[in-house]
Amino acid sequence: MSGILVILEDRENRITRLSWEAAAAAGRLGGDHPATAIVIGAQTEALAAEASAAGLTRVIRLQHELLASYTSDAFTAALEQLIRANSPDFVVFPHSYQVRDYAPALACRFDQVLISDVIAIGDGPAFKRQLMQGRLNASYRHSGSGPCFVSVQAGAFRTESTPSQSAGTAELFTPRLAPSQIRTRPSAPFHGTAQTVDLGSAQRIVSVGRGIKDAANLPLMEELAGVLGAELAASRPICDAGWLPIERQVGSSGHTVAPRLYLAVGISGAIQHLVGMKGSQCVVAINKDPDAPIFEVADYGIAADLFEVVPALVEALKAVKG
Ligand SMILES: Cc1cc2nc3c(=O)[nH]c(=O)nc-3n(C[C@H](O)[C@H](O)[C@H](O)COP(=O)(O)OP(=O)(O)OC[C@H]3O[C@@H](n4cnc5c(N)ncnc54)[C@H](O)[C@@H]3O)c2cc1C
Repeated sequence: MSGILVILEDRENRITRLSWEAAAAAGRLGGDHPATAIVIGAQTEALAAEASAAGLTRVIRLQHELLASYTSDAFTAALEQLIRANSPDFVVFPHSYQVRDYAPALACRFDQVLISDVIAIGDGPAFKRQLMQGRLNASYRHSGSGPCFVSVQAGAFRTESTPSQSAGTAELFTPRLAPSQIRTRPSAPFHGTAQTVDLGSAQRIVSVGRGIKDAANLPLMEELAGVLGAELAASRPICDAGWLPIERQVGSSGHTVAPRLYLAVGISGAIQHLVGMKGSQCVVAINKDPDAPIFEVADYGIAADLFEVVPALVEALKAVKG
């Protein structure tokens, strides 16, 4: 194996959680062969230091002033040069919106495809990804020559599996880029309003479904989320009905989340919902139907009426907190 590159993304000069998950996947892929982390930008020293401190022993700083803001043309051209110079076997990306934008074009430059949104890596290696809204899993193997390009799904790989030894080296790679190569002019990065929820980073989530019956019952669910220090999320019918905004929807047409605790209240566990939360570390489900599919993925299940359980839970949590 001649090497694995893992592409790390940053937001406001901090490496994203999804990138650490990609590093964990690259670590899984490499076994005894540590991956080389790539940080990209106009000033990359701080990002390289952050990657090294997290235990990524080899870091390449892909640096150029035309990489200050993301553009598909500059990232594709710069990464193409770096990949040709390093001839890796695998290039691993976080499956972010940015990666979706440029990575397929980058793979094409090597006559490859991007094996996208991978949820597990088996022997071979075989890359598992979901088809048909999660109803089928398919395994993909790379064949032929050239690097294998893979992006990994949010929440599929635990960041704890990132190596933790600290000493590392960082080298500089300066690509040849000219302004004439870049066909788009980036605007200022998007900043959500202060109220915008970041479910993808939430450590605890209380998620509510059609079992709550009426929007008038939301305050009780908000109270539960409040005592737990959790974000409130929902299944699709709740957002379709306008009871909660779409930004709080979990599932195949909503957000993918991977909190430490996912408390599903009155959610049946349809496959379109499960694909968005199955990366959660601990799933607790409250549902009055003992055969509800949510119990198949739950670590703890309470088969009871949520209108009895939730008030009792709120009181018990308040008592514990004093
Ligand atoms: C293309 C497509 C994309 C989709 N994308 C998404 C998506 O992103 N996210 C998503 O969530 N869904 C999505 N769906 C919809 C999905 O198929 C389900 O319809 C939806 O997840 C069901 O939501 P629910 O579990 O809240 O409601 P229901 O399926 O109606 O389940 C309600 C549950 O509440 C329980 N319940 C009722 N009363 C009580 C009570 N008093 N106490 C305890 N439990 C109670 C019931 O037993 C039941 O299990 C999508 C569907 C399609 C076709």
